[in-house]
Amino acid sequence: MIFDIVIAGGGVVGLTAAALLNDAGYSVCLLEPRLDRSRPQGEIGLRTYALTPAVRRILEAARAWAPLDHSRVGRFDAMQVWDAGSSGHLDFMPPPGHHGAMGYILEQQNLVAALAESLATRPGVSLQAHALTGFEAGVPVVLALDDGSRLRTRLLIGADGANSAVRKAAGIEQTKVPYRQSAILANVAFARGHGNIARQRFLDTGPIAALPLAAQRECSIVWSCNDERAAELMACEDAYFIGALREAFEDCLGGVTHLSARAAFPLARAQAAQMVDGRCVLLGDAAHLMHPLAGQGLNMGLMDVAALVECLGPATAGVGSSTSALRRFERWRKSETLAMTAVTDGLHRLFQRNENVVRQARGAGMNATQRLAPLKHWLIARAMGTAGDVPRMVMSGASGISPPRS
Ligand SMILES: Cc1cc2nc3c(=O)[nH]c(=O)nc-3n(C[C@H](O)[C@H](O)[C@H](O)COP(=O)(O)OP(=O)(O)OC[C@H]3O[C@@H](n4cnc5c(N)ncnc54)[C@H](O)[C@@H]3O)c2cc1C
Repeated sequence: MIFDIVIAGGGVVGLTAAALLNDAGYSVCLLEPRLDRSRPQGEIGLRTYALTPAVRRILEAARAWAPLDHSRVGRFDAMQVWDAGSSGHLDFMPPPGHHGAMGYILEQQNLVAALAESLATRPGVSLQAHALTGFEAGVPVVLALDDGSRLRTRLLIGADGANSAVRKAAGIEQTKVPYRQSAILANVAFARGHGNIARQRFLDTGPIAALPLAAQRECSIVWSCNDERAAELMACEDAYFIGALREAFEDCLGGVTHLSARAAFPLARAQAAQMVDGRCVLLGDAAHLMHPLAGQGLNMGLMDVAALVECLGPATAGVGSSTSALRRFERWRKSETLAMTAVTDGLHRLFQRNENVVRQARGAGMNATQRLAPLKHWLIARAMGTAGDVPRMVMSGASGISPPRS
């Protein structure tokens, strides 16, 4: 048997791609050696994502929004950003006429379980608990799996994360720059409610964010800092961490009544030289990695999925893996993801600068932006995923499976 599409990697990006491409009429095989379909229980997991309303529409189209455990989904209706090195302060609210949240905070496991449940309703998706170990390019593409078996497909998608085996086997170069920073993740209960506001403060060691979880006093903390500070914050006693956390947020949320375990993730930016090579496509972290300060990595990966579905069009259009459709996809998504990586990298560099003159200019720039309604609305639309070259699925809210984009 030859599959229309094989997807290596069943993280959130690969699972969503499997659902939407199957809905477009393609036979799909998803390779994921570590799929955990269990619903999250107990405390909220440390891996949480801030997702945009645009991405909510993609998850709705994949029929994965309804099966989420909504009692565990946080939302934010405003954002506050301020700079420890200057007087700079920005408040963001949804644009006039927008209904609903500015964004959502979802646990990885909640997403994975909902997507897996939704995939189980699609007999056209074959799920195999194997890893891809290599492939031979050609028509069809012949894949080698870790149990020694082989699979044949017309199109191979690498959604297998930052260390993508697909990218390596395709010989696609990657530019990778480590930030020499790590993000420390923890969940915290504060004395005061978060009021559904996402907060981020730029410290001279890196940005710290408190993202509102479903419970009014609980936040997911994403604390990016240089490696020395990160090692200190991972090794210290809870009392020291809590003191540092309160100081970092200028005590705006009050005391800490509960602190979870902590986990650290090294940060880097990376970009694959190509997102398409012959009959091989890269999506999500396999193609691009960015600093989490703008919470955009997974949002971008899911926009890649919606864009690919749109470029390929329905299987009946007979353009399945045509070269021109894939070229359109690559032109579209490479420019969008390069731009977002550059923005997050630029913000990272700007807030790392400590010279007096830079700090003053930064503060003045933030405060000027705060007063400029049109610029603020544009930034908000970008942050919500509704500005830029946006897939039809996001604009229409429908499945987006319409004739291919030309
Ligand atoms: C600290 C931190 C905070 C972040 N916060 C946000 C945020 O708020 N919002 C946001 O949008 N993004 C955020 N991100 C980015 C986000 O985590 C990633 O962009 C996202 O997880 C990428 O998803 P993916 O499905 O592409 O890759 P992954 O989640 O890495 O999934 C890859 C999958 O491929 C499988 N796999 C690996 N090798 C093989 C193989 N050979 N064969 C088959 N399968 C394989 C793996 O088992 C895995 O399941 C954050 C990142 C960090 C580090």
